Amino acid sequence: MGHLPDICLTPHRTKIICTVGPASQSPDVLFSLIKGGMAAARLNFAHGTFQQHKKTISAIRAAAKKAGRPAIIFADLPGPKIRVGHLKDEPIVLEKGGTLFLTTENVPGTRFKIPVSYDRLSDSVEKGNSIFLNDGFIELKVAKIERNEIECIVITGGTLLSGKGLNIPGRTVYLENPTKRDRQIMDFALEAGIDTFGISFVENAKNIEHAKDFAKSRGKSIYAIAKIERSVAVSNIENILDSSDAIMIARGDLGVEVPIEDVPSIQKEIIHKAVRKSCPVITATQMLLSMTENHRPTRAEANDVANAIQDGSDAVMLSEETAIGKYPLESLEVMARIATSFEMKRETISWAKTLKERINSELIKGHVTIADMISMNVAEAVQTLSAPFILTPTKTGMTPRRISRLKPEGWILALTKEKRVRNFLFLSYGVYPLLIKTFHTDWREEVLELLKRRNLAAKGDSIIITEGKFTGDSGGTDSMAILKL
Ligand code: PEP
Repeated sequence: MGHLPDICLTPHRTKIICTVGPASQSPDVLFSLIKGGMAAARLNFAHGTFQQHKKTISAIRAAAKKAGRPAIIFADLPGPKIRVGHLKDEPIVLEKGGTLFLTTENVPGTRFKIPVSYDRLSDSVEKGNSIFLNDGFIELKVAKIERNEIECIVITGGTLLSGKGLNIPGRTVYLENPTKRDRQIMDFALEAGIDTFGISFVENAKNIEHAKDFAKSRGKSIYAIAKIERSVAVSNIENILDSSDAIMIARGDLGVEVPIEDVPSIQKEIIHKAVRKSCPVITATQMLLSMTENHRPTRAEANDVANAIQDGSDAVMLSEETAIGKYPLESLEVMARIATSFEMKRETISWAKTLKERINSELIKGHVTIADMISMNVAEAVQTLSAPFILTPTKTGMTPRRISRLKPEGWILALTKEKRVRNFLFLSYGVYPLLIKTFHTDWREEVLELLKRRNLAAKGDSIIITEGKFTGDSGGTDSMAILKL
C-alpha cells in the first residue's frame, strides 16, 4: 500500500472556485478555503503584479499540501477588454442628456472628453449604437463619428473612474485574442507551472486554438476555459465547445453584452449544450455578491447558486466575494452548504425532468456511442444500487467527464497516471481524481482497501468499475463491472 494518495471528499460534489485576491491570499485563509471545499483557485490577471501572483501561487500550493487536498490553480487572462483611460479629476459624474466625446487619444480624461484604450473604436460603432461604461451602469448613444473621436449623448448617467470597462454590445471588436498582454501572462504562468487558462471575450474557436498554439510554441500543452461573455460567442457556442476544455458563463460582461433579461435563458441553454458534450461548465459572477459586505447572502443569491447546480453546472465561482470581500470564508461555507443541501434533493425534484433523463433521451435520439452507453448504464447502476463509488481508470479524463455530466449520486474516483489530467479533473462535478503510478493487476483491490480503511465504503456496498477490456486504447472504455463488497 501507500501507492495511492489519500481520499479527502467534500460533502458536496459541485466544485467551488474561489478567486484569490487581497482578502484571501494569506496562507491561513488559503488553508481554510481548501479545507472548506475550494476545488480551484482563480487568479485574475486583470489585477496584481507578477511578483504578487508568484507569491500567491506558492502560498496556494503550500496550503493544499498542508490541507491534504489538491486545489487546481487557473490563470484568468484579461483578454481584449476595452477600458476607459486615465481620468484627471476622478471620479467624474456624467449627467443624463449631456454630450461628451470618447477619444482614442491618450489625453487626461474629463467629463467632456474620455480617453479609451481602443484605437479602432470608430470602426466598431455606428451612429445610434449604445456604448456602455462601468459594468453597464452608464449608457451612451453614438451621435457622430469622427476619425479619433465619437460624440455621444448620455442616456443613463453615473459616476466614472479610470480603468472601468467599456462594452459595445453586438459590435465587432478588432483586437487580437489572446492579446499581447495575455501572451506575456501565459509566459509567466507557464513558467510558474500553471497549465489551465481562462480565455476572456472568446468570439469563436480560433481564439482558443490561438491560445493553445501559443502554448505549443513554448513547448507546453494547456487546458483552455472559454469565457462566454459576448453575444457572438453564444452564436458560435457549438464550435467553441468542441475546441475548449471547459467553459465559463461569465455573467459579468455577458450581462452587459446581451440584454440582461436574456442571461438566464442563455445560461440554461449553454449549460445544457456543454453537459451534452461532457464539457465541464462553470457558472460565474455575482453568485453571492452581497456577501462582499454582509455575512449572509440574500435569498435570491442562495437560489441562484442552487439553480446553477440544477441547470447542470460542474462548478460555481466566487469573484469579489473571496477576492476583496469582508467574508471570504463565510462565502465559501455558504456556497458549500447550499450545494450540499441542493444535491441531496435534486433527484426528488419532480417539477421538471431530471438532467439525467433529459440527456439520456437526447442521446438516444442522436448517435449513441459505446462510451455514451457505458456512461448511461453506470449512472443507472449507481442510482439503482445506491453505489457510493465509481472507479474509472482514465487516460484523458473523458470517461469520468462523460459519467459526471449525468450527475450520479456516487463519487467518481478517476484514476490516472497523468498529473495534469488529475488536476484538471478537479473541475468536474463529483469527480475525485487520484494519481496512480501504474495500473498493475491488483489496482482495484488497492482502491477498495483504501475506501474501507477510510470508512468510505462498507460491506454490502456496490462499487461500479469501468474498464477498457477489449480495445486497450485511449477512449476505449467499453465495459462495466459491478462489485459487491
Ligand atoms: C465575468 O465577466 O463575469 C468574468 C468572470 O470575467 P471578469 O471577472 O474577468 O470580468
